Amino acid sequence: MWTLSEWKKRAAQQRFICQAQIEGKACDAKSGQTFAVINPATDQILAQVAECGDDEVERAVRAARRAYQRGIWARQSPTARKAVLLRLSELIMQHRDELALLDSLSMGKPVVEAWQLDIPGTAHFFSWYAESLDKIYGQVAPTAADAVATVTRSPLGVVAAIVPWNFPLEMAAWKVAPALAAGNSVLLKPAEQSPFSALRLAELALEAGIPEGVFNVLPGTGAVTGQALGRHPDIDCLVFTGSTRTGKRLMEYAGQSNLKQVWLECGGKSPNLIFADCHDLGLAAENAARAIFYNQGEVCSANSRLLVERPVYEAVVERLIALAAEWTPGDPLDPNSRAGAMVDARQTAKVMDSIAEARRQGARLVCGGERLTINGVTNYIQPTIFTDVAPDSLLAREEIFGPVLAVQPFDSEQQAIAMANDSHYGLAASVWSGSLNRAHRVAQALEVGTVSVNTVDALDICVPFGGGKQSGFGRDLSLHSFDKYTQLKTTWIQLHQSAAPGGDYEAG
Ligand code: ADP
Repeated sequence: MWTLSEWKKRAAQQRFICQAQIEGKACDAKSGQTFAVINPATDQILAQVAECGDDEVERAVRAARRAYQRGIWARQSPTARKAVLLRLSELIMQHRDELALLDSLSMGKPVVEAWQLDIPGTAHFFSWYAESLDKIYGQVAPTAADAVATVTRSPLGVVAAIVPWNFPLEMAAWKVAPALAAGNSVLLKPAEQSPFSALRLAELALEAGIPEGVFNVLPGTGAVTGQALGRHPDIDCLVFTGSTRTGKRLMEYAGQSNLKQVWLECGGKSPNLIFADCHDLGLAAENAARAIFYNQGEVCSANSRLLVERPVYEAVVERLIALAAEWTPGDPLDPNSRAGAMVDARQTAKVMDSIAEARRQGARLVCGGERLTINGVTNYIQPTIFTDVAPDSLLAREEIFGPVLAVQPFDSEQQAIAMANDSHYGLAASVWSGSLNRAHRVAQALEVGTVSVNTVDALDICVPFGGGKQSGFGRDLSLHSFDKYTQLKTTWIQLHQSAAPGGDYEAG
């Protein structure tokens, strides 16, 4: 593992890809438009990147469609596609340092976190889906004897993925790996804050052997590039991770254009419930801190509401206050930093506004709440904890996407469940209890996509991830993800009587 000065040296020498990657070629936007990508830890521009407009989107869609129709990827044998995706997984690991650095420099997370989790995770997603693609069988339906009906999966065609900046490469992989494994052509639009790892992935994909046109990366802003993808009439499916606000727009675009399928993984305000019968309060508190302060709180499934049963409320809050200090942000390139910079000045200001609003609405600030200056830059926020949070306040209801925790007490299991479900989000929840009965009861009652029991934010490639309510619909990860990237095809074969006069002739 590198030291701070080694990472800095590498950062100074890092190459940033500034052009779109369409049909195997790097290209500028025809309009000449670019946007600046800024390192939030230095406030310096890393590069000016091509902003793809209608022209580039049109070219990329055509290339993707052509590649799909020619079958150069979709109709390659599963063994061949698997080998290419496994090679891509290896290449990702070979470029682990570079990819970790690209994500850290553009969105501020500790480079060590990206190196330890995001990049190996990404490589694993590609190898997992590579290995799964030749193990998916079709079905034979239970028809009457005079017919044979098969139910098979076929790719959709052209899939567009619009992804956020909080886990730039990993979020891209959640969509791209299964979409490619299923045989689709893919257009990826990374977030404007963090386009570099996706652009590098396009180069590595070519090197691995993914045919030109099958995987294209279109950098740009949401309003321009994202909207052009959303409204394009020849994209079959749009998969998205990001805010609920943008998710709603994407559904409008689909309705106003070609009714492309839209699958959304949006925001959350996930509750973490600690019951007094929890076996290890210390562990629960440690995890509660990680569940909100990890990745600067910029996690859609962050456990931003902590509900604690009254008898242990004071003890848990006290513990949390002590633990919060461990998540004080530092230079993202410093291997000792557990948290880094917020993604940009805008997000920092937004989170600070939410903290000010929480105070105005009467919540009690018990820890943090201040902006920090590191190396002369102010895009850092202390781990922040509020108690006495009113149920109808902004802090209790709205996603803040920063290191800000709202703690509320409860007096009964029913009350805890009612509080937890009193949200327009439904992504994830955690439950801490030593009672198996209670854990099952509460898990059943929680209106969310994932319940973690005696841990937080459980996530693994082998289980689906996604939510309900205004957190979206559809699932990433696991084999269930193929539901988004394939369609079921029924082939019904009617069997007719043989040897009837004028009918089938059976050779004897
Ligand atoms: P955040 O507010 O956390 O940045 P967004 O939902 O705005 O979340 O961004 C997630 C992704 O959605 C990014 O790639 C962004 O460019 C894209 N995006 C934002 N607005 C639009 C839009 N109107 N149409 C399509 N994509 C968009």
